[in-house]
Amino acid sequence: MEIIFLGTGSSMGTPVIGCPCAVCQSGDSRNQRTRASILVRAGTRNLLVDPGPDLRVQMLREGIDHLDAVFVTHIHADHVNGIDDLRSFNYLQREVIPCYADQFTIDSLNERFSYCFAPPDPSWSKPSLSAHVMTDKARWDEIEVTPVPVMHGKLPILGYRFNQAAYLTDVKTVPESSMTLLRDLDLLILDCLRYEDHPTHLSVDEALDLARRIDARRTIFTHMTHDIDFDTLSASLPSGMELAYDGLHVQVGAQGAC
Ligand SMILES: [Zn+2]
Ligand SMILES: [Zn+2]
Ligand SMILES: [Zn+2]
Repeated sequence: MEIIFLGTGSSMGTPVIGCPCAVCQSGDSRNQRTRASILVRAGTRNLLVDPGPDLRVQMLREGIDHLDAVFVTHIHADHVNGIDDLRSFNYLQREVIPCYADQFTIDSLNERFSYCFAPPDPSWSKPSLSAHVMTDKARWDEIEVTPVPVMHGKLPILGYRFNQAAYLTDVKTVPESSMTLLRDLDLLILDCLRYEDHPTHLSVDEALDLARRIDARRTIFTHMTHDIDFDTLSASLPSGMELAYDGLHVQVGAQGAC
């Protein structure tokens, strides 16, 4: 199984429009972050987490031409506002693509993007998704997917576990009942917004603390703002912990070096 970091930025991306700060002006490509999203692939299966607003450029960059399913963590714009560009996959595949999320997110998607859940038109000129409330494990060939409820401040949202890897973006706290779903991980991908405390996201110190408690064999931090310079924070992270960057590919499992 391979995980591709499509995007590793927070809601505004990095660089932030009009920002003169050193990170936004940095020439380091690892400081250039599109909105947070991953692709999980094994064999011919491609599973997307979050159709964010940078979906089109991310898919072009990685050469993705097929999606088996889309998982949505929550309804915030930086995680769903690329939903219209899923149309390209409907057009290529000539089929409805299944979309998985919790009940609140499915209801909100139906409200905001009702045309995506209407019966497909014959020319596939609109995105065409089928809605599925994810309450239990599901499987795509060798990829087993487990929903992991977490708290994004006061908003309950979903993280997802894919075999021995888990993706927890936009998280502030993890209930004890979900900690048991995060045992024995080869890879944990975790929210790490900025140095300063935030009401709905993990700060750097909180992310390090939660990563130590979950104790995956490898932890990669994501969903970072322009406060975080890749080289500066990377240099201070303990072994087994690192920062994500757009375009990073990680192998997980049997043949992987994770
Ligand atoms: Zn977000
Ligand atoms: Zn900046
Ligand atoms: Zn959010």
